Amino acid sequence: MISHTGAGGRRGGDRFGDRREKRDNNAMKKKRVCRFCESKDIYIDYKDEKRLHRFITEQGKIIPKRITGTCAKHQRQLVLAIKRARHLAMLPFVSDAIK
Ligand SMILES: [Zn+2]
Repeated sequence: MISHTGAGGRRGGDRFGDRREKRDNNAMKKKRVCRFCESKDIYIDYKDEKRLHRFITEQGKIIPKRITGTCAKHQRQLVLAIKRARHLAMLPFVSDAIK
């Protein structure tokens, strides 16, 4: 008898737990594979302006790897390529696109 009431209480708890789990999943970012690891033929070239452009913000800042999902190894190559491209005036050091 007492166990029955206990089960009912547990059910309610489960429901609540489900809700919580969902929220956590939403907060978590999707697992991303580094796009350079994905296709191994890609060489991060400082002359490849179009590709590098996707890894800098409107202000000309390099986007951190936790956002782009790039692995540490390729992020290092990417940063180097972006810095070279900046020196060649292919990418901005800073741009005042922000108001
Ligand atoms: Zn990688």
